[in-house]
Amino acid sequence: MAMEHEGGCVCGAARFKVTGEPSRVTICHCTWCQRRTGTAFGTEVVFEDRQVVLTGGEIGRYRHVSDESDRWLDVEFCRRCGSNLGFTLEAAPGIRTLPAGAFDDPTWIRADRYKMRHVYLRSRRTWSDLSPLVEQYEQHFRQ
Ligand SMILES: [Zn+2]
Ligand SMILES: [Zn+2]
Repeated sequence: MAMEHEGGCVCGAARFKVTGEPSRVTICHCTWCQRRTGTAFGTEVVFEDRQVVLTGGEIGRYRHVSDESDRWLDVEFCRRCGSNLGFTLEAAPGIRTLPAGAFDDPTWIRADRYKMRHVYLRSRRTWSDLSPLVEQYEQHFRQ
């Protein structure tokens, strides 16, 4: 029996289901991923198209053309709440990514189980490191 995992956007209007194992996990620190996610990096779980089913009527798509490679990437998102739902790209036909944080239970996504790589570290932000100079809390500091 193949492994199945589900996930979706924060408002629940867009959902996805994957069957089987991802081929890899890419943690991308490029400036494009920083901008599209609004944070330090994108964590993309990579599947073949046929493993992924996206459901819900609120899925939007934006085509970005890279100014470096001139190739397109189709970013998918929930039209209602704006959550990131991963992307497909011209450079890698037949595959799509899903954001690791959008799975209902992301604890199965582990570096000891899957090939996991940090890429584009040339633009890594120092504020994504756990610096001993920055206060740290297991929960919020107001608790
Ligand atoms: Zn949504
Ligand atoms: Zn990137």
